[in-house]
Amino acid sequence: MRAANTRPSLSEEARQAMAQVDGSRLIGMQRTLASFGGREDGGVAREALTATEREARRWLIQQVSGPRYSWHVDAAANLFLRRAGTDDSLPPVMTGSHIDTQPVGGWLDGAYGVIAGLEALLALDSAGIDTRHPIELAIWTNEEGSRFSPGAMGSSAFAEPASLAAFLGSTDASGVRFETERDATVAATPEALNVPLGRPVRAYLEAHIEQGPILEVSGCKLGIVTGIQGVRWFEITVCGSSAHAGTTPLDDRRDALMTAARMVARIGDRAASLEDPALRVTVGRFDTAPGAINTVADRVTFTIDLRHPEEARLAAFEHHIREIVAQGTGRCTAEVRRLMQRTPTVFADEVVSIVEAAVATSGEPSYRLVSGAFHDAMHLADVCPTGMLFVPSHRGISHNAAENTDETDLIAGARILAAVLTELAC
Ligand SMILES: [Zn+2]
Repeated sequence: MRAANTRPSLSEEARQAMAQVDGSRLIGMQRTLASFGGREDGGVAREALTATEREARRWLIQQVSGPRYSWHVDAAANLFLRRAGTDDSLPPVMTGSHIDTQPVGGWLDGAYGVIAGLEALLALDSAGIDTRHPIELAIWTNEEGSRFSPGAMGSSAFAEPASLAAFLGSTDASGVRFETERDATVAATPEALNVPLGRPVRAYLEAHIEQGPILEVSGCKLGIVTGIQGVRWFEITVCGSSAHAGTTPLDDRRDALMTAARMVARIGDRAASLEDPALRVTVGRFDTAPGAINTVADRVTFTIDLRHPEEARLAAFEHHIREIVAQGTGRCTAEVRRLMQRTPTVFADEVVSIVEAAVATSGEPSYRLVSGAFHDAMHLADVCPTGMLFVPSHRGISHNAAENTDETDLIAGARILAAVLTELAC
């Protein structure tokens, strides 16, 4: 971690860009974007690569104009609004997020990072600043993963182009292929020139709502995100023997459900006993077979979603899980399978320290935190120096029509974003 006295001071251009952020323009654009798929209850229904999302993309590209700007799209339908640099051969500084939502999402998840980035570009225009590096606003495809699985397709394909091939055949609930909707979405913005996946990027900074309660509780408007916690997913299968509920004595059973239930309770107790505020352990699925009221269960499968910012703690808790399952089988048998793992993301010190300098200049109180949720920035961190900036979420609510953030906080975040992008691009 950097000492406070090594923090860089902000350039004059970055201060000017910060000063030119127009709060009412930002909020106006944010509300207009929310009207694409907007619902009476304040929520937004704008799933990935739908006609509604395509209309929103068309509106977005119309918000920038003039000789500095061009539009680009890649094979994952990631859309880029590019503001030229004075040396346009340099790799771009990028910002952005996603505009797709859950089936019923809030008005800010993803959308805020896109609109804050757009406002940063317009602030640079107002300040008359030319940056050395180009700056690109990225609209990443299908972050949510609710219509097409997996999520974060656009940013992960950008970071690892070979992964796109496996996404093309993904289908939504009505059998429509990702590839079909990708093509329609690319065709909806004919102004956009094709660019390859996996281009070099100078640095990436994504603004996002926190989607959790930490900033609100802290009383700080700005969250300096130092990384994204890691995750491991497990599936535990317990096998017993089905038997008649009326005739089989309790001590003669191989009851998979009772055995699995005790395992789940012990895993929960172990997690609580560690008193680690950063540990997250979730049993989200518990399937039982044959699932009859009068038959002892012979097969139970349950899942564990394990998260922590430190890899060593993830490994340690995986050891606890394996130990508890191995010791708790009784007359049944059990197997632990790790389905997925993602190591914690540590954001670049270079980007984090510039965000800190910008926050210090703005005079707003800030808080350092690790993101509990995944974001497009996680994939960008694999290819370039990356950071994130959070603004508070009312009561931590997200993926919900009630999702909200104070306008003053949205504006404060956009000011920081404009300053940091300028600093990185000058
Ligand atoms: Zn998001």
